[in-house]
Amino acid sequence: MGRTINIPLPPGTSDEGYMMAMERVVMPILQDFKPEVVINSAGQDNHFTDPITNMNLTAQGYARLTELLQADLAVLEGGYSIQGALPYVNLGICLSMAGLDYSGVREPGFDAVRHAQRPQIAEYLAKLCDTLPELYFNPPGPEHSAGGSISKQDDGEWFVRHKNIYYDTDSITEAQTESLLLCGSCRGLLKVLSRSTKNPDCLGVEIPLGACPACRQRGLEIYDEAQSRGGYRYSQLINRADRQYLRHGF
Ligand SMILES: [Zn+2]
Repeated sequence: MGRTINIPLPPGTSDEGYMMAMERVVMPILQDFKPEVVINSAGQDNHFTDPITNMNLTAQGYARLTELLQADLAVLEGGYSIQGALPYVNLGICLSMAGLDYSGVREPGFDAVRHAQRPQIAEYLAKLCDTLPELYFNPPGPEHSAGGSISKQDDGEWFVRHKNIYYDTDSITEAQTESLLLCGSCRGLLKVLSRSTKNPDCLGVEIPLGACPACRQRGLEIYDEAQSRGGYRYSQLINRADRQYLRHGF
């Protein structure tokens, strides 16, 4: 709980806003967590020339972010400004990861005035940067967690939350109910119920790596009960404890 940190940046966020989020949220958490491996999922659709987004990051900003992050590896993800962004951003990332000077990397067409961040964005981010580290360093108990609630059932206490997801590439709307069996001995069993405009009810069960015997057993039971009772268009079991992967209806 509290170990996944999402930082929602508003449209128009520039290098300045990204640096604020890095310095005030990401870096203090990394220093505390001391990860063994850092992977930069280096998506580049946040560049100011990207045709489908509205962010104002530059190659300089990306290189500085990379320098701060000290990632072990970076993976090129999205980014649709093939000529305007990718050559510059990738060069900035590579130079930065190699420990070389990236100060000469400049995109044509950058306008410091036109691509400046609005003052309201800095105000919003300043508040966000106060709130997010607090969630990490003093995570609220599951009973206080936003977007979910505790449900007491025969097999234990479940943390339940509902999510609505819209997939803009295929115009699919999905309603998901995630339930996590709260367990003092392992990470807990995860159950996902899904229904979308494309598919009726579907079930997913995940038995985590290092699952305790009780969670492992309960996970197998839930999957088996679903098969014998029916009612799901698709169901699947991801049993990480035993490296077992089962699915039904596909
Ligand atoms: Zn358990």
